[in-house]
Amino acid sequence: MSRMRITEDRVARTLEGQSFDFKCTGCGNCCKGPGDVYFTESELKALKEYLNLSAWSFSRLKKKLIQDTIPGYYVHRSGDACLFLEDNRCAVYPVRPLQCRTFPFWPSNFNSKSNFRHLKKDCPGSMSGLGAALDAARVTARVQKTEAAFLQPQKDADDPIML
Ligand code: SF4
Ligand code: SF4
Repeated sequence: MSRMRITEDRVARTLEGQSFDFKCTGCGNCCKGPGDVYFTESELKALKEYLNLSAWSFSRLKKKLIQDTIPGYYVHRSGDACLFLEDNRCAVYPVRPLQCRTFPFWPSNFNSKSNFRHLKKDCPGSMSGLGAALDAARVTARVQKTEAAFLQPQKDADDPIML
């Protein structure tokens, strides 16, 4: 996680003159391992509707899913994998939260060469040659969009967190 605001200069330094390309291979790596998955209230409501849950079932799901809260977000602390990963697929893909919809275009993935190396190692869809090549300006635009959207629910927080 990073609290640093992303800039095109920083992205360009991280990419070292290369373009970035991405196309998801569906490997499921980004849903595995310990990590935090952030849900807004409205994203939880969308899950309830998508899964067609009664109030009682939704309350049970929330008890299993949510381990913490921060201003603007409910937090799922995944252990070995996110609760919604089933057979290497997201069971709630059409209503997955912003965090998942915007991966790998997160500030933390592009704010240092070392984080970018980790991204390339862990996400086979990154720099695979399968996706369209994006220059630093286009990558920055997408990452800044993520940044603004992720910060919005935290607008009243003293110390917002970032992806
Ligand atoms: S790690 Fe990358 S390629 Fe694998 S599922 Fe996640 S986004 Fe797709
Ligand atoms: S909600 Fe879906 S896409 Fe997001 S971490 Fe969980 S399984 Fe992966």
